[in-house]
Amino acid sequence: MSNEIVHPTIKDGWFREISNMWPGQAMTLKVKKVVHHEKSKYQDVLIFESTDYGMVLVLDNVIQATERDEFSYQEMITHLAMHSHPNPENVLVIGGGDGGVLREIVKHDCVKKAVLCDIDEAVIRLSKQYLPNMAVGFDHPKVEVLVGDGFKYLEDKKNQFDVIITDSSDPEGPAEALFQKAYFELLNGALREGGVITTQGSENQWLHMPLIVDLKKACKEVFPTVEYAYTTIPTYPSGQIGFMVCSKDANRNLRKPLRTWSPEEEEKLCKYYSKEIHEASFVLPNFARKALQ
Ligand code: SAM
Repeated sequence: MSNEIVHPTIKDGWFREISNMWPGQAMTLKVKKVVHHEKSKYQDVLIFESTDYGMVLVLDNVIQATERDEFSYQEMITHLAMHSHPNPENVLVIGGGDGGVLREIVKHDCVKKAVLCDIDEAVIRLSKQYLPNMAVGFDHPKVEVLVGDGFKYLEDKKNQFDVIITDSSDPEGPAEALFQKAYFELLNGALREGGVITTQGSENQWLHMPLIVDLKKACKEVFPTVEYAYTTIPTYPSGQIGFMVCSKDANRNLRKPLRTWSPEEEEKLCKYYSKEIHEASFVLPNFARKALQ
């Protein structure tokens, strides 16, 4: 009797990310070994070793991170915000249970405290066990990790954080409330003057433009400065994902980094982010630029 772990998304040795969120297309990854599967209190958690992308974290049948390309997403969602703030000392992550965004935040020496609030202890526990290169973020002395709903956590937070990064799963599931205007109002309240937020911008410009237009509209009703940026990442749908980047400062130009590392520091610290890619990530193809005007 094989003790092989089976999962409905894996057939003939291939993981298939089929979803109505990306109709008619699907990323497939060749599976070397399924290492864990459990139903947590909030989501279905699957972790498998792939043949070519390292360990892969899947929540509710949707790829969250792979060891090979996660740096693109973790660096961009973090440093687009952190380099758009003059001196981010207090930083909050909502979601981010794999630890990768925390790993990026503590690369900034100015940070005094980084708090992470993820709803699912299983993601944190399993990332520590199977995704050590991301979970390393949990070990830093400046970091505090809480388990809870990010929406509820923010309800009594006022004027507390310089940067808040919402590294959530997709709108379907426990993260649904994190894509609503009421959530952006909580973010605004929890930010100090001049604060900056980034949020996973509900996938990408090829598949979800109506969603992104609505998201930007909701953000503009709360923040004076709102921009949309994106990064390329092979294992997310259509090979990319976008971010909303917003500031409480009406005069903040989010498209150009306020602070920069030296070229040597960038080489040492990042594999994707640079001051050039910061600026380039806000340059959209015409169809997207016009839709988001
Ligand atoms: N990079 C991934 C992406 O862009 O899809 C996200 C990765 S991270 C693992 C997503 C995290 O959001 C998960 O750990 C999940 O538990 C967390 N999450 C979902 N809903 C949440 C909520 N309401 N409050 C806090 N964390 C939440």
